[in-house]
Amino acid sequence: MMTTLADKVALVTGASRGIGAAIARHMAAAGATVVVNYHSNQEAAEQVVADITSQGGNAVAMQCDVSDFKASEQMIKQIKKDFGRLDILVNNAGTTRDNVIMMMKEEDWDLVLNTNLKSAWNCSRAAARIMMRQRSGRIINITSVAGISGNAGQTNYAASKAGMIGLTKSLAKEIGPRGITVNAIAPGFVRTDLTAELIDEIQDRIIEMTSMRRLGTADDVAALAVFLASDAAGFITGQVIAVDGGMVL
Ligand code: NAP
Repeated sequence: MMTTLADKVALVTGASRGIGAAIARHMAAAGATVVVNYHSNQEAAEQVVADITSQGGNAVAMQCDVSDFKASEQMIKQIKKDFGRLDILVNNAGTTRDNVIMMMKEEDWDLVLNTNLKSAWNCSRAAARIMMRQRSGRIINITSVAGISGNAGQTNYAASKAGMIGLTKSLAKEIGPRGITVNAIAPGFVRTDLTAELIDEIQDRIIEMTSMRRLGTADDVAALAVFLASDAAGFITGQVIAVDGGMVL
């Protein structure tokens, strides 16, 4: 087992499936104790924990709707109580409700903004309180190339992801002096429950637009998350790093 994250405690939101599950697995393999947060999919979250444990890692599942301010605060208080610290927060939980603007409903806007953007603010606020006292910490926000270049049919999603970039840069300036880095990862297309349908429709076009001529994998994203969480990345902050095989250049 690599030990780049030995003795660190990490919270990965939305870690029951997809990219979050891969980040949880990679961070645990690097030696971190990982809190696998989920919203409704307890069985999948417990499976991620079981996989990690069977590999000799440490993990627990924690249910919380991270779009809920009080519940997020409560979860992070619980982590401090259970583990005594919080070193790494990965704001990964996310969802989509795609449609052209005339067909998009107000509740589609609210759900996506609350799940993707407000959640990151909720968890960052509660985590920053602990990290500032520790005088160290890592916050990693999973944004998207859609937040950089926009995407027709995703006004809500792209706005939430662009909002995460503003949050990343502002918080990096605010809490850098306390030893905390804040960065964003912008994945291209990775096949998960979130994107499977879309990728099935336009896979050839995506691959054509991508320099590396393939889709991304959750492992591609997780590898960068582990690096950004490590001590070696201590002078990198406020950055938005694309993991998109050269799609948005
Ligand atoms: P996914 O497979 O659909 O998984 C979404 C995860 O978020 C699940 O673990 C889900 O928990 C959790 N979640 C949703 N709402 C939540 C809430 N209110 N509170 C707590 N957890 C919640 O998605 P993914 O593709 O892995 O995406 C992960 C992140 O990467 C998202 O922020 C997404 O926008 C971003 N991203 C993905 C891609 C891509 O191509 N896949 C590209 C760019 C960016 P449950 O299982 O309990 O529902």
